[in-house]
Amino acid sequence: MTTETASTAELPVVVIGAGPIGLAAAAHLLVQGLEPLILEAEHQVGATIREWGHIKLFSPWRYNIDTAAAALLEPTGWESPRPTALPTGADLVRDYLEPLAALPGLAGRIRTDHRVLAISRGQRDKTHVKARAGRPFVLRVAHAGAVTELQARAVIDASGTWGTPNPLGAAGLPALGEEDPAVVQRLLGSLPDVLGAEAERLAGRHTLVVGAGHSAVNTLLNLAALKRRDRATSITWAIRGESAERVYGGGDADQLPARGALGQRLRRLVEEGEITLVTDAEIHALEGAVVSTGSSTGSSAGVQEKTDDDAVITSSLQVAFADGRRVRVDFLAAATGFRPQLEMLRELRLELDPAVESPRRLATLIDPEFHSCGTVEAHGADVLAHPEEGFFMAGMKSYGRAPTFLLATGYEQVRSIAAHLAGADAAVRNLHLPETGVCSGVSAPGPQDEQSCGVPAADQTQSCSAPERSETENGVAVPEPLGAGLGASTGVLHGRHG
Ligand SMILES: Cc1cc2nc3c(=O)[nH]c(=O)nc-3n(C[C@H](O)[C@H](O)[C@H](O)COP(=O)(O)OP(=O)(O)OC[C@H]3O[C@@H](n4cnc5c(N)ncnc54)[C@H](O)[C@@H]3O)c2cc1C
Repeated sequence: MTTETASTAELPVVVIGAGPIGLAAAAHLLVQGLEPLILEAEHQVGATIREWGHIKLFSPWRYNIDTAAAALLEPTGWESPRPTALPTGADLVRDYLEPLAALPGLAGRIRTDHRVLAISRGQRDKTHVKARAGRPFVLRVAHAGAVTELQARAVIDASGTWGTPNPLGAAGLPALGEEDPAVVQRLLGSLPDVLGAEAERLAGRHTLVVGAGHSAVNTLLNLAALKRRDRATSITWAIRGESAERVYGGGDADQLPARGALGQRLRRLVEEGEITLVTDAEIHALEGAVVSTGSSTGSSAGVQEKTDDDAVITSSLQVAFADGRRVRVDFLAAATGFRPQLEMLRELRLELDPAVESPRRLATLIDPEFHSCGTVEAHGADVLAHPEEGFFMAGMKSYGRAPTFLLATGYEQVRSIAAHLAGADAAVRNLHLPETGVCSGVSAPGPQDEQSCGVPAADQTQSCSAPERSETENGVAVPEPLGAGLGASTGVLHGRHG
């Protein structure tokens, strides 16, 4: 541990983000006798999960509740939801995150509408290693139209990755035109509420879904349901791969029956022509085009909007693929995954994997080039440490660009980090997690072979290992084998989205 000045030791540990991992971090800090302060950019806790509140999680409640949080909640009469039930995002917020954040011990330690813009340390830039040692962290924070500074003894960045989705361009750059306003207004985000808030806008329209992970599957199935209500609705699905087999999963042979069922539903919809599948689809350019101006045609070839002088503009989105193919659609849902926001961490001495953008030692366990399963060995403060002592990335953000993060993994991360910061035993406890991807047959080289989910090609539609049983998973009894009710995989080939 760093030798801290007395004043540094009196400062709070700042947790960035009041998502499930940030709130759990605060609970563990309290358990360790440390003072947490949560800074949340949005108006409410669980802000990003609220955005996909209509989506069902693929892991049941027993994996979604942190032990320290449960220990704080239980004396208040809070009842843990049924461990085997699958919550929606909205359930997770209402039945767990909101009661947790309302606890007297936490409520006063959460500042909403506080967006962290940048972090540094002491009064020196990061080239002054010695001068910064043991000095407080400085966080620059936007609140109520002003920018202020706060000090912290340590920082846990649990700000997730939802705010920085991967762009649509095949090379990891935005597709040409992707940021043009005429295009942006046709982009739906990665998990539009197709059957709820967006139903009216999308019914009878042509939507292109890009991606091949959990989010894309959800959106496609919901669009198909919308199409049953309004037959004029049209759905195109673009993936980078040459086949969607891996997304469909193992069908009846899938170890996770509900996942297999979802995959089979999607396969049927494609085979029946309800969804048009475009494979080998590398998006090169996007263009928002005005198709016509005049009176309403009532057709679905373009989105019609009335101007102030009552004329009707019909516009659409042109998507150009790298091989010259083109498709014209009304809307596009980009389910292409996320990446971490690193700019605000620029004045910290980080050790990130150059590709995965996660802490370097963690990257070897989760690199999507090798790992498609959600399984990863439990890891904590030592794996997540950076040269900037006292700074940690936790939760979804700690996984960088890898798509296989699970809440249960994050809860163990913050338990270990809090113990480390308190000078207590930060050794990790083993986790028995569900795997959430359809495993790839490629093994990562080196010591991580054990959890690389390598299986013979013939068995690739099977999960990498049988779901584990544990009597006390996250402190919650596990009464039956995992499986029923799990959704589609979080990623596909090698854990990727596209
Ligand atoms: C559709 C979907 C389904 C999923 N299903 C499962 C599942 O079944 N099981 C599972 O284990 N995992 C699942 N996950 C993965 C993961 O558990 C979730 O993404 C989870 O929300 C990650 O929690 P987090 O606390 O790390 O980040 P988030 O929930 O994203 O929380 C981050 C918080 O930080 C705030 N924030 C962001 N930037 C700043 C800033 N600069 N300053 C201050 N605050 C900031 C945000 O507003 C947000 O409130 C799913 C993910 C998605 C997208």
